[in-house]
Amino acid sequence: MEHQINKSDQKRDFKSLSKSELASLLEEFGLASYRSDQVFQWLYQKGADSFQEMTNLSKELRNELDEAAVIKKAAVFKRQESKDGTIKFLFQLDDPNEYKVEAVLIPDFYDDGTANRLTVCVSSQVGCMFGCSFCATGKMGYFRNLTHGEIVDQVQAINEVTEERFGKKITNIVYMGMGEPFHNYKAVMESARIISDPLGIDLSPRRITISTVGLTKQIKQLARENLGVNLAISLHAADDEKRNQIMPINESLNLDKLENAVKFYFDQTQKPVTYEYLLFDGFNDSIEDAKKLVQIARWAPSKVNIIMYNNVAGVELKRAKEGRLNHFMKALSDASVTATVRRSRGDDIDAGCGQLAIREDGIKGKSLVKEAE
Ligand code: SF4
Repeated sequence: MEHQINKSDQKRDFKSLSKSELASLLEEFGLASYRSDQVFQWLYQKGADSFQEMTNLSKELRNELDEAAVIKKAAVFKRQESKDGTIKFLFQLDDPNEYKVEAVLIPDFYDDGTANRLTVCVSSQVGCMFGCSFCATGKMGYFRNLTHGEIVDQVQAINEVTEERFGKKITNIVYMGMGEPFHNYKAVMESARIISDPLGIDLSPRRITISTVGLTKQIKQLARENLGVNLAISLHAADDEKRNQIMPINESLNLDKLENAVKFYFDQTQKPVTYEYLLFDGFNDSIEDAKKLVQIARWAPSKVNIIMYNNVAGVELKRAKEGRLNHFMKALSDASVTATVRRSRGDDIDAGCGQLAIREDGIKGKSLVKEAE
């Protein structure tokens, strides 16, 4: 007899266990070690919803796993397609509160209309407590962290859509949806490991980008992980005074501290950092601002993404004008800063940066910036 599963154990959600925790639990169940890889593959590569689908396990074993454990799954609840091809997915979590989160597929096409890059922006938390003033998610407050399984579920479900529609899988993943990924560090790291695992989603870590408002401790922690993923920093203002106005986190983790963390990150990883900079009309779009951004871009090898903001109802900051954008970009290029402009995508379905929102009922979650530091 290969196994002896203890049915009196409380049912565990297999997708809330890390790969090593899963292996230990299956070992406790008395299963041979190769079984753990098989189950992992069913969960994350084949997207099994139930143990009964795991047909290389015996019927008896599948029945026993059914009694001992569950597989929770975030499922697509609704989807909206933009005229420009962007698709916004609303996921229903397996949760008594019926929480929902959003993910966005942003396809780029070759001239002949076939799909080139298929980028997915995933959520890492239900809501967010960091309260950036331009962000719809921040206005909701924080409700809970996603498990790593719930993050990978977003990728798996959208992979099914891209394979059906474009004949290929997602090519790039950015953690820039709802939530601050580094405020849910452990689950985000585990999800990135599963996404890059050949027995999981099998996407190169070079194609995964994790974005943060600048949580310096976790930037240094990521530098030591040796995961091979990319780091993006949501900068959005190039001096402390302006950054304090729109990103409360900057009051405690200011640009000096960020500089220190970025330099440490580069020393450890030799990987460039990307700065995300939403360009707001009359707020951070002057030549002075561009010059300050140049100084930041020189902390360590980096590139800058200038993002044209999708206006959000109730937010005073508005998208910068094209003329200002051109001057701003020229100032960066004159200083030899590598910078690209990211145009708004999915405007008509509110799928843009800072627009993902979760509740229409007005219920607010925690927004305790001090607690989160
Ligand atoms: S921009 Fe990011 S960190 Fe800031 S409130 Fe929105 S989700 Fe949170």
